[in-house]
Amino acid sequence: MTIPKLPIYLDYAATTPVDERVADVMQRYLTVDQLFANPASRSHMLGWQAEQVVEQARRQVADAIGADPREIVWTSGATEANNLALIGYLRANRERGMHMVTSTIEHKAIVDTAHALEKEGFEVTWLTPGSDGCIQPEQLHEAMRDDTVLVSLMAVNNELGSIHDIAALAAVAHEFGAVFHTDAAQAVGRIPLDVVAQQVDLMSLSAHKTYGPKGVGALYVKRHPDIRVEALIHGGGHERGMRSGTLPTHQIAGMGEAFALMQQQYDDDNAHITRLQQRFLRGLEGVEGVLSNTPLGRIDKNRIDKSSIEKSSTDDNSTEQRAVPNILNLAFEGVDGESLLMALRDVAVSTGSACNSASVDPSYVLLGIGTPRSLALSSLRFSFGRFTTEADIDHALTLIRHAVSGLRTPPR
Ligand SMILES: *Cc1c(COP(=O)(O)O)cnc(C)c1O
Repeated sequence: MTIPKLPIYLDYAATTPVDERVADVMQRYLTVDQLFANPASRSHMLGWQAEQVVEQARRQVADAIGADPREIVWTSGATEANNLALIGYLRANRERGMHMVTSTIEHKAIVDTAHALEKEGFEVTWLTPGSDGCIQPEQLHEAMRDDTVLVSLMAVNNELGSIHDIAALAAVAHEFGAVFHTDAAQAVGRIPLDVVAQQVDLMSLSAHKTYGPKGVGALYVKRHPDIRVEALIHGGGHERGMRSGTLPTHQIAGMGEAFALMQQQYDDDNAHITRLQQRFLRGLEGVEGVLSNTPLGRIDKNRIDKSSIEKSSTDDNSTEQRAVPNILNLAFEGVDGESLLMALRDVAVSTGSACNSASVDPSYVLLGIGTPRSLALSSLRFSFGRFTTEADIDHALTLIRHAVSGLRTPPR
């Protein structure tokens, strides 16, 4: 057996490496002999050429989600895109209503932003998902009010991998005259996205979850009907006045290339990652007391055994896909997650818990779907990607089996 490079990186949901083809593109726009000019410089050829590079990337990103390039606003990442969507939209539409709806298991970039808006006088309804990590359209329906102007629900949850039916949720929002925003940072390349078919009005994107660079992202802002978002960052009036600041050509070109590659490799990437997920689940069959917090197929209890693996197979059309294949959030009964993390120092994974000076707080997302505290503290998130190999999976499995049995001796 080949021993893979250590540590084995199984934390693709936290960030992905930049694809070499993306890095090659990025390197064309930095130094003195290259196209380093300011894309906003109107007075010389170099500026126009840099602008063309930015506009090509804008088309690539727009294409990936079925948008018009004029609907893409560059930001520093999905965090900023989420801030711009929520704060920018609510402030611009104060006179229409002061209420928004979101959920308790959104990314912190939504949760904290919504809390900031509450301090500003806006009202937020916090929906609680079921154990499958999803908000049902009926739940949203009940929360809608006459003064609801915005609904924000993520497309794919970053800790669980659970998938929202964004088209159905958007339809409910529109029924009540509200605008629908989705944080799609984890969804790009993992589920089909089409802002027209899914009727999304605002969509947050990030490059570094999809083999692009960190520090760049975008907000899709629908043009017809025109959605107004108030700028948070003021300056030269870039990006149709919604986000000022000199555009980072190399970052933007990298995001464009990463999204174009995503489209070309969508099927291959997902087939590869699904195979890895199945291999990983099969390898855990022999380990006792492993539960999946990630919804796997139509099963009541997500215990890792033969039936759950069969049911999680996305090849099976009778099984509705409830989670992306690249994220597996697993609880190891009777094992402390932090200790397991230490014992697994050759495997890079994450817990989702927050370490305070005195104690460890379990993941708010796991608590949010009703996971008991002790089980939440026994959970780790494994996430795979384009460059994960079968050897990575096999070696990680060996290390996990060893670590879990080590932490469980003497017998429970
Ligand atoms: C990573 C992530 C973000 C933050 O994106 P940045 O580009 O790092 O700011 C927001 N939402 C979700 C769901 C994410 O996974």
